[in-house]
Amino acid sequence: VTTERTLARVVAFLDGEKRQVWALHRESGEPFFLPEGRATELRGFTKSSLRCPHPDCTVEISTRGGSKRDHFLHVTKPTHETGRESEFHLAGKAMLMQWAALRIPDGATVHEERTVKDPATSLLRRADVMVTGRSGRQVAYEVEYKSYAIEAWQAKQADYDAQGIACAWLIGHTKVRLATGPSSPDRNDEAAVRLPELAAVIARAGHPVMVVNPATRQIGTLAGSARFDERYRGASGAWLAVDDLDDCEFSPHGGIITPTLRRIVAAEEEVARELAREEAQEAEARHRMSVFRGDDLRAWEHSPLRATFLARWGTIPDVLARDAGATGGVLAVLPLWHGAIYEELLHQRTVDFKWREVFAALDRHGIRRHSDTKLVFRTLMAWLQAMEALGLLRFHRDRQRRVLLFSPAGLTLDEATRAAAQRRLDQAAAEDERMSAAERHREEAARIKAERERVLEERRGTALRVSEAGSRRWAPK
Ligand SMILES: [Zn+2]
Repeated sequence: VTTERTLARVVAFLDGEKRQVWALHRESGEPFFLPEGRATELRGFTKSSLRCPHPDCTVEISTRGGSKRDHFLHVTKPTHETGRESEFHLAGKAMLMQWAALRIPDGATVHEERTVKDPATSLLRRADVMVTGRSGRQVAYEVEYKSYAIEAWQAKQADYDAQGIACAWLIGHTKVRLATGPSSPDRNDEAAVRLPELAAVIARAGHPVMVVNPATRQIGTLAGSARFDERYRGASGAWLAVDDLDDCEFSPHGGIITPTLRRIVAAEEEVARELAREEAQEAEARHRMSVFRGDDLRAWEHSPLRATFLARWGTIPDVLARDAGATGGVLAVLPLWHGAIYEELLHQRTVDFKWREVFAALDRHGIRRHSDTKLVFRTLMAWLQAMEALGLLRFHRDRQRRVLLFSPAGLTLDEATRAAAQRRLDQAAAEDERMSAAERHREEAARIKAERERVLEERRGTALRVSEAGSRRWAPK
């Protein structure tokens, strides 16, 4: 179905064709649809055997064709209104009755206006059309052409829910409009529609809501996206596609399944399967990782390095187990690979080494590296820099700041740690010294300033006296 055809069908579906095209058999009450172009052929049969679907109408009906769509008409003026929503409502019910009678499974029955008694409130409510399965399971069809109050819908839905009755809500086609506004590049967007608030409320509550047009014998399916890959669930955007009722199937759960709904559900299931696949893959990856971590821990638990360290220090030094700021490049627990490099290349060593030797040390302990070489270097470099800061080795870099050579200091971890602690103490002492020197300087400056103040103050209270002999002295004023 091309987009243009879809749009044309939607436009025709929403067009307010008001002529009466449904009647009932006088004897059986069975619905009868007047096909286009058969008014003349069926006029005699109509006059003799059919009646208006309005329950109280006794006016004789006939058919008319010609330039307008073939339709039924009252021979004399009826007592009820015509061409109105109530007529569509009756026609919609007649259409669903006829369709359901042909589609329901063996042993099921279909009724019009079946009364449902709410056991809690004893209120009686009527379903427009009710299908009852052999097992007693029921499906209701509600055709809404009037402006149905949301509270009234809630009450009716609550009755159905309380009794486990599924209900398909069919919004009358005259209640739905093509949405106007800027059309998106997606041509399907032109089938965007505006719905009455009730339709959104029903959809948001998770109940099936469709659109019905008894004059065209079609059902409109609502989608929540222009791609028709999700059901309409009451969001602001709604898109409509139209199917012939003859192509729709009965469902004991949702009442009616259109080909479009089938496609939408298939698309949703595909999305759900895709999500499930992704989740399964993630779960598997997580599982692999946890197994991998478990293996890593066991490798460390059983490592000769760990035994060596425990024998030497009685504990694993914190500096070997500490994250130096970059991890992931080496596929082992920290104390294992830190320990391997330390033990092989740093512990009391004085022989310069290169990157080659670092990798060889890891290899000798069966420690694997990540396939991302940059990540490996980043991880190793972060820890080696921490060891440099500790004083265990020095880096020799080329002009591009690349590390060519490492020179270990010949220390043990303890010595380096103690030396580093001592350096920190020395630094602190030197800082103290600088602080106290500055303090002494400030005190001296303050003393000199105070002395000068005192002299000046003294002079303000005295005057310079010159004696007759010419001697000078400061005397109180
Ligand atoms: Zn009538």
